[in-house]
Amino acid sequence: MKVRIIKSKKRRKTVTARLEDGVLCVRVPTALSKDKVKLLVERFKKSIKKKKKTQSLKKQDWLVKRAGKLNNEFFGGKLNFVIKWSKNQKRIYGSCSAGLKTIRISSRLVKLPKWVLDYVLLHELAHLIEANHSKSFWRLVNQYKRAERARGYLMGLGFKEENSDEI
Ligand SMILES: [Zn+2]
Repeated sequence: MKVRIIKSKKRRKTVTARLEDGVLCVRVPTALSKDKVKLLVERFKKSIKKKKKTQSLKKQDWLVKRAGKLNNEFFGGKLNFVIKWSKNQKRIYGSCSAGLKTIRISSRLVKLPKWVLDYVLLHELAHLIEANHSKSFWRLVNQYKRAERARGYLMGLGFKEENSDEI
């Protein structure tokens, strides 16, 4: 984590810290000793890391629950799988390894509307049954009423699936 110390003569006692574009900016009074600043920075770093961890656990929890709900709704809860967010998928919205029963969803999708995300989850879940984009695959996916619209939405953003021209 990058840290920037900003000293201010105006400040007397207050120390503040916040993330600005991924940089931890700590504002301290000029009079504060180096050791004290170092200690404070460490403390801020720790608390930010803790917060990030909690947030990512929450996001993971949400993903598992959402996928579980779709599994129940569309596949009678029969599918077994592991689902994770993936940070290194830029233009790829998701991937499914049917053999390993592992689904990865791009963390960039977090901001998309939930109905689009549901489509992506359903698409990847369907790959656990049909590995390719066969007719029977699309039959499964198109059970989702907004499938067509979601495909258009993702296409508009330039997202595609791993190893696939289709979405
Ligand atoms: Zn696919």
